Amino acid sequence: MPMEALKERIMRDGQGIGRGVLKVDSFLNHQIDVAFMDEIGRELAMRFQDRPVTKILTVESSGIPVACAVSRAMGYLPVVFAKKAAPNTMVEGVYSTDVKSFTKETVSTIRVSRKFLQPEDRILIVDDFLAYGASALGLTKLVRSAGASVEGIGVVIEKQFQEGSARLRQAGFLVESLAVIRSITDGNIEFE
Ligand code: 5GP
Repeated sequence: MPMEALKERIMRDGQGIGRGVLKVDSFLNHQIDVAFMDEIGRELAMRFQDRPVTKILTVESSGIPVACAVSRAMGYLPVVFAKKAAPNTMVEGVYSTDVKSFTKETVSTIRVSRKFLQPEDRILIVDDFLAYGASALGLTKLVRSAGASVEGIGVVIEKQFQEGSARLRQAGFLVESLAVIRSITDGNIEFE
């Protein structure tokens, strides 16, 4: 079930770029509408209410506000975000994997400190966009490296035509998205 308010917001404020990119920086990716973000969090939390989630995992930076909104709606579960740069404060052991960035066309290493992923953790992965699935798949690898389990993957906007969701579902993951976009052509956004 799509979230109608999100679809309307994308139609009103979103901007399709070329054949594959959606710009939503007035409420999700640059400026943040916090009240709306909390609505998004409640909706995503509802999709996973039957899952015994212990922790929410995302990747910096645009996944963080989404993950915090989901946390608030799930009783303030801890949020961990994978880092894309290796700060010199990260001296303890880390789990890491390489991820190709869709928007920047670069490969970056994402890292999570070992102390924040434990084998008994049941992880909900959250992100703003799902395109080819590289970010989400990278996060599942970090979870598995820790011996923890993935309870599901929740995203705000899925671009179905880039097939990340199909790939992740084929790999056996439960994927939920609040808005599903079928195509972006010459700036024209079509929903599923
Ligand atoms: P994937 O790894 O699934 O190919 O891409 C997902 C990541 O790329 C997300 O974390 C998101 O930040 C970024 N991304 C992918 N497509 C878009 C898009 O159309 N617009 C924006 N703003 N970010 C995107």
